[in-house]
Amino acid sequence: MNISIQNLTKIYNNGHHALKSINIEIENGMFGLLGANGAGKSTLMRILVSLMKPSSGKVLVNGMDLMKNRQSIRALTGYLPQDFSAFPKLKTWEFLDYSARLGGLKSKQARLSAIDEMLEEVGLYEVRERYANKLSGGMKRRLGIAQALIGEPKIIIVDEPTTGLDPDERIRFRNLLSKISGRDVIIILSTHIVGDISSSCHHMALLKNGNVVYNGSPHDLVGQAKGKVWRIEASHEQFDEVNVNFNVISTIPSTKGWEIDVVADTVNGYTANLIDPNLEHAYVYYMEHKQEQPEII
Ligand code: ADP
Repeated sequence: MNISIQNLTKIYNNGHHALKSINIEIENGMFGLLGANGAGKSTLMRILVSLMKPSSGKVLVNGMDLMKNRQSIRALTGYLPQDFSAFPKLKTWEFLDYSARLGGLKSKQARLSAIDEMLEEVGLYEVRERYANKLSGGMKRRLGIAQALIGEPKIIIVDEPTTGLDPDERIRFRNLLSKISGRDVIIILSTHIVGDISSSCHHMALLKNGNVVYNGSPHDLVGQAKGKVWRIEASHEQFDEVNVNFNVISTIPSTKGWEIDVVADTVNGYTANLIDPNLEHAYVYYMEHKQEQPEII
């Protein structure tokens, strides 16, 4: 599979530029879309699942224009929206049956075995006869995941998937996606949680105010922050001043005062050592230091 996003722009009716001529190439595997709230992630997701039209630009899926082949590409796509909460009055298994039919699984036999398998995968088999709207919050989230994955979609788009999941469920969900990502599928995972990306994605884009400010591997992004992350040994008196002067990532009490990890080009005047950056450091460094593309008016 291949998705090519070309000069994609979205201007909402109120004049807000949510996407500013973005370009991204996505191949098989898990692709992470990272950005703060309001960066434009959901806007891009909604365009990719044909719920919204872009203002200009195009999206090609295996060379096919998305806008001209909306139905056939939609049938290949599983989608978990950010605000997945409205359920028709159906039992849990019936809801998945409905999703599987929408995804094009015609044989009843095939659907029933796919449903059982998926209910087991997301831990909802025991409550398959319960009405979907009567499930707990975490279970509804898992049912959302199940409806996005059933029917073996070729493109899986999940918007803030781990919100509302407890730590165990988060790990289980990541493992489920990793298992699927070995196949001929594209999984696009949109999140503002750096940990969701670092543990699972080989490729990623960073969105900031509707611009792609980074597009590449998490590993290379981390590499760019090398030499920029410092552990400052601060006395109690220096604590406030360090917090004012630097981008602080973490603060740990130490025998002499505080060990404060900061992202900065230099930390002249302080006792400090360089430390190995991780993706969270790199994200902060990139968001603070890299120039955005000029605004398109
Ligand atoms: P994210 O998913 O990264 O949080 P969104 O794509 O939801 O970002 O939003 C991007 C920007 O577009 C935000 O500034 C948001 O307020 C704005 N926006 C989203 N939907 C609309 C809309 N229907 N009309 C006007 N502005 C919108």
